[in-house]
Amino acid sequence: MTDIFSFSDDLGPLKVIHVNVPRHNTKGVLVVDNVAAGPAIGGLRMAPDVTAFECFRLARAMTMKNAAAGLQHGGGKSVMIGDPEMPRDQKEDMIRAFAKALERETQYIFGPDMGTDELCMAWIKDEIGRAVGLPRAVGGIPLDELGATATGLVAAGTVAIEYCDFDFQGARLAVQGFGSVGMHAARLLAEKGVKLVAAADIQGTVYDPDGLDVKKLVAHKMAGNNIRTFASGEALNRDEVNFLECDIWIPAARPDVINMNNIERFKAKLVLQGANIPITVEAERKLEEHGVINVPDFIANAGGVICAAMEYAGKTQAGAFNAIEEKISQNTREVLERVKHEGGTTREAAERLAKERLGVAMNTRRFEIF
Ligand code: NAD
Repeated sequence: MTDIFSFSDDLGPLKVIHVNVPRHNTKGVLVVDNVAAGPAIGGLRMAPDVTAFECFRLARAMTMKNAAAGLQHGGGKSVMIGDPEMPRDQKEDMIRAFAKALERETQYIFGPDMGTDELCMAWIKDEIGRAVGLPRAVGGIPLDELGATATGLVAAGTVAIEYCDFDFQGARLAVQGFGSVGMHAARLLAEKGVKLVAAADIQGTVYDPDGLDVKKLVAHKMAGNNIRTFASGEALNRDEVNFLECDIWIPAARPDVINMNNIERFKAKLVLQGANIPITVEAERKLEEHGVINVPDFIANAGGVICAAMEYAGKTQAGAFNAIEEKISQNTREVLERVKHEGGTTREAAERLAKERLGVAMNTRRFEIF
């Protein structure tokens, strides 16, 4: 077991809280990492095998993402042990008990993550009065339905393409993970003239070098079908999507997809990271050394949390989407310019940017991390 003090450094965490409510079969952890900029926003993850260490790492990632996006929010995360597919009554009971136990932890605002959704957030809002990622009927902006994260990816791409030797018109796109993020990204980029040549879900890849019909593919997936059964294109193995001839690669599924063992097969020239850590840090450095333009995860995929923060601030959907475009375009340019002038990788530049902003917030506080 990891000693709890091994998590600590100069940025956090401020608090690690273990929650145990035996009568409601509820066990979980809340990590409030750094709230110098304001109350932490971070998702509640439900899975059978979550750990306190995982929770800490995710909380820290939120500190960096929120700081980079210049939000009035710090980073935190919570995890609960449980099968997210359990019967609804049981899930509601557990989530309400978990939220109630943390009612007075007002420096943490619940959001959705793996295993929880907008309905779960509505239960939490009802129980303790604060949550983001709510259903529209109670003031939420449905970020997955609208494609908030994909909107941010496209904003990042619109800036990053200026640093490439091709433009959107006719550029070939491959999307790994045709879910909320990947599907909307393909749809929005198609509107800019990009040609989707490959897409994958967990079952496999569909490939057509002449371009797939994005609208029809989205409809096919939304109807509950797997991607390999799409009427046109060639069905390939799942991981082939990552190694096909293309100009733009959007990973929107799993971590560590490109690593030192498969990097030689990678062909894209521009990467917009929808998933978290889709390329190992070592492989990311190598790709950038070979001229790949890369926008790292916590810059490119911050659209969801920006949308959640705007919802919390009572902004409209249009206001939220303007904020996503503005913040992510500016950050992408700043990161790519820093790399151009200062060298190093885009991830290093993004981390410096986030830490500088966090440092300014911390210097304004009597107790620096809260
Ligand atoms: P989702 O569950 O809606 O979609 C994920 C898709 O990936 C599914 O189609 C699934 O079949 C596919 N998939 C899973 N494993 C795969 C594999 N090995 N190869 C190919 N496809 C695979 O999830 P989402 O909300 O679109 O999130 C996608 C990724 O983006 C996740 O890593 C998530 O953490 C990250 N992310 C999401 C948001 C958001 O706002 N939803 C924000 C930031 C980051």
